Amino acid sequence: RFITFEGIDGSGKSTQARLLAETLMAQGNDVVLTREPGGSPGAEEIRQLVLTGDPDRWSAETEILLFTAARRDHLEKTIQPALAAGKTVICDRFADSTRIYQGATRGDLRAMVDQLHSLMIGREPDLTFIIDMDPETALKRGLARKSGEDRFEDFGLPFQETLRHGFLALAQAHPKRCVVIDGNREPEQVASEIAAYA
Ligand code: ATP
Ligand code: C5P
Repeated sequence: RFITFEGIDGSGKSTQARLLAETLMAQGNDVVLTREPGGSPGAEEIRQLVLTGDPDRWSAETEILLFTAARRDHLEKTIQPALAAGKTVICDRFADSTRIYQGATRGDLRAMVDQLHSLMIGREPDLTFIIDMDPETALKRGLARKSGEDRFEDFGLPFQETLRHGFLALAQAHPKRCVVIDGNREPEQVASEIAAYA
C-alpha cells in the first residue's frame, strides 16, 4: 500500500509520517518511510539542486521538470520496488505537493504538472492524509525549526493560505483517496486519528 502525507509547511507531515510508520511496524507490517523531494540517492541530489541557491535559479517550468525528474527516480528506485515486495510505503509529500505548490505559483502551470504526471509518473497513492491547519501556527512551527535550509522558506502567510485552500480543494476533488485531518492538536491525538484510517 502506498500512503502519502500532504499539507502546508510546518503542518506536521514529517512527524505524522514517522508516527504512522512506527505504529504500522509495531503491528508487524513491513514499512518503508520516505520523502519528497528526495527519497532515493538521485532524487536527493535533485532536491539539493531545487531547494538551494538563488531564488531565481530556475524558472517555474524548469522547477516542475526537476520535481518530476526527482519523483520518477524515487518511484523507480524506492517506491515501486518496495510495493512490489509487498511493503507499505509511507511518503512525506508526493505529486499533490507539486500540483498545489507549483500550480499555486502560476495557475497556468497546473496543466503542465498534470501532463508530466500522466506521462512520467502515472501512479497515485492509495491513501493520502491532508493535514489541515492554521497557516499562522504552522508558519511559527516551521520558523522555529528551520535555519536557512532551503530557498522556499520565506514563503509568507498569504501564500500558505493559498496552499491550504489548494489542498482542501484537492481533497474535495478526490474524496476516495484523500482524508483531511485537523492538525491543530497534540501530535499523539492527530496520530491516533490517522492510525484509525490507515
Ligand atoms: P515541512 O513541510 O516544513 O517540512 P512538516 O509538515 O513536515 O513541515 P514537521 O516537520 O512534522 O512538519 O513539524 C514542524 C515542526 O512542528 C516540528 O518542529 C515539529 O516537532 C512540530 N510539530 C509537529 N506536529 C506538531 C503538533 N501537532 N503540535 C505542535 N508541534 C508540532
Ligand atoms: O517538506 P520539505 O520541508 O522537505 O520541503 C522542502 C521545501 O520545498 C519546502 O519549503 C516546501 O515548501 C518546498 N516544496 C515546493 N514544492 C514542492 C514540494 C516542496 O515548493 N512540490
